[in-house]
Amino acid sequence: MSGGYLGRILWVDLVAGACREEEVADEIYGQFLSGIGLAVRLLGDRIPPGADPLGPENVLAFVSGLLTGTGALFSGRWMVAGKSPLTGGWGDANCGGTLSPAIKRCGYDGIFFTGVSPRPVYLLVDDGRPELRDASHLWGKDALAAEEELIREAGGHARAAVIGPAGEKLSLIAGICNDRGRIAARSGLGAVMGAKRLKGLVLKGKRRIPVHHREEVQRLSRECNKWVQFQPPFVTGTMTAYVGTLMRLLPTQMAMDGLVYKLLLKKWGTVSMNQMSVEMGDAPIMNWKGTSADWGIGKSRTVNPDAFRVLERVKYHCYSCPLGCGGICATKGPFGEVHKPEYESVLALGGLCMNSDLESIITMNELLNRAGMDTISAGGTVAFAMECYEQGILSRDDLDGLDLRWGNSAAMIALIEKMIRREGVGDLLADGAKRAAEKIGRGAGACAIHAGGQELPMHDGRNDPGFNVHYSVEATPGRHTIGAQLYYEMFRLWKRIPSLPRPPLFYRKRRKYLADEEKAVMAAACSKFMNVANGAGLCMFGLFLGAERIPSFAWLNAAAGWRKSPEEYLAIGAAIQNRKQEFNRRQGIDARSLQVPDRVLGRPPQRRGANRGRTMDLEKMRSDYWEQFGWDREKGLPKDRP
Ligand code: SF4
Repeated sequence: MSGGYLGRILWVDLVAGACREEEVADEIYGQFLSGIGLAVRLLGDRIPPGADPLGPENVLAFVSGLLTGTGALFSGRWMVAGKSPLTGGWGDANCGGTLSPAIKRCGYDGIFFTGVSPRPVYLLVDDGRPELRDASHLWGKDALAAEEELIREAGGHARAAVIGPAGEKLSLIAGICNDRGRIAARSGLGAVMGAKRLKGLVLKGKRRIPVHHREEVQRLSRECNKWVQFQPPFVTGTMTAYVGTLMRLLPTQMAMDGLVYKLLLKKWGTVSMNQMSVEMGDAPIMNWKGTSADWGIGKSRTVNPDAFRVLERVKYHCYSCPLGCGGICATKGPFGEVHKPEYESVLALGGLCMNSDLESIITMNELLNRAGMDTISAGGTVAFAMECYEQGILSRDDLDGLDLRWGNSAAMIALIEKMIRREGVGDLLADGAKRAAEKIGRGAGACAIHAGGQELPMHDGRNDPGFNVHYSVEATPGRHTIGAQLYYEMFRLWKRIPSLPRPPLFYRKRRKYLADEEKAVMAAACSKFMNVANGAGLCMFGLFLGAERIPSFAWLNAAAGWRKSPEEYLAIGAAIQNRKQEFNRRQGIDARSLQVPDRVLGRPPQRRGANRGRTMDLEKMRSDYWEQFGWDREKGLPKDRP
């Protein structure tokens, strides 16, 4: 073993109540890194075809990144992986905060749970001693209360991950929480934890993480930090909205340098993009059938970035992050001080449902965080129900008396509370829009906006077709944290890998919709690079600084003592992608079935708003992408597979 990783994982058998350590060979880290690469390498073959995601054969992995704890900046992401009950295929989710280093300080690169416990339990790892403890007294508690109690029982100075009531009640859109309501939300893995009757894990360790060339990692971090600290000229929240309007009106576009986004992120956090995204056509409105003309500046101004700055009491940073996009807000609502909502949550509970009431958005966000339910999927499911109500597919009686008109924030709060409790119509909706549509019938499927069962995030592929490609080609469909044409521009990988295409500084917008090979090369590069990032534990927002400013590959070499080239790292990313795709094949997922709905592709095109007249040829873009990995153009499978 050299550095960065510990070479050891913990297996926890929830049936026998036993823990077992296992050494992991150096070659595995060399081929798959740690984090999500390690998870897919170890779980891919272990979860049998057809395994019930909520049954004993599923395995749930909590993994840290190879760079976590080495002194590399932006390296505090932890990841959870297993078979997704929401999509039936590979599932993963990640989150920041402080849990990732805690996993490694306990001496493990990952903790893997097998089987189903006969009673509620939690895992305590205290100074190298793992044990399962009774969690009956925590069952039913929300995520904040459960985390607080676990840390208190561990004697303080510990870190914990927990599920809330949504995971316990096996909601297929449940996530896993840490750091008082932050959430690894996607893929429904909170339900897997609930099915295993695992309330949480609490970690307390002091293990020093080995680093091959610590001074070099630190030197690279100092260089990178100069770019993070560089501060913007004066800019206001209202200016961001009008920049979005300008971007909508111009026929040309400028390749985005992520330094600009960094400036916004440092000042406001992800909510910096709220109004700009609506104006430029990035944020979907009214369950993807509306436009920026339906939720214009007058309506979206309640979610202007400055509205959050007024409420923000203190900013916070994830572990090893010099940027600090998080914040705690003081509100007049029932919860007092809460996490500042993220862009995704604000738009899913805002424009997607035509809701302009900021206080209600903050309240719903906090309700969902405490319940451990994904805000993107919850917002998408409420928007689905609103459209069903509008079309008469669901009546007021069907909705337990709720008047679910667009923008009725009081009805939205009531519905979300029902979803969390699985009460009445909330039980129907607690598993997401696709499952609800299948049960409702009567044409409800046309209102369910998802890919492979997962509700889509708040980035419209009619504005940036790259989002639609990644929503449809990834083994974890419907995800916005992997790639887009915008992301490729910000990653600036051509600065380290000259063979990759460099987008022109200015280009006509219609160029984005041409399905050509260059787009496929760019999309495949995003997938490979984000697999490397998720193996390293790096935050995507840090990567937006651009490859010449954030030394991802050099950090990995310095930490692990390797001499891999950037091209070799992307080959590792490709190997991880292959493993995930292979996992889905073994689980019977047809890659073609993950396509987003026609509405999202501009079929028919919208008649007004930022994305009017836009349609994309997803089928060709998807086939071109598959070809980049050597997969069959028609089926999206490795060519030697049936
Ligand atoms: S940029 Fe934001 S999400 Fe990313 S590591 Fe920093 S504080 Fe966390």
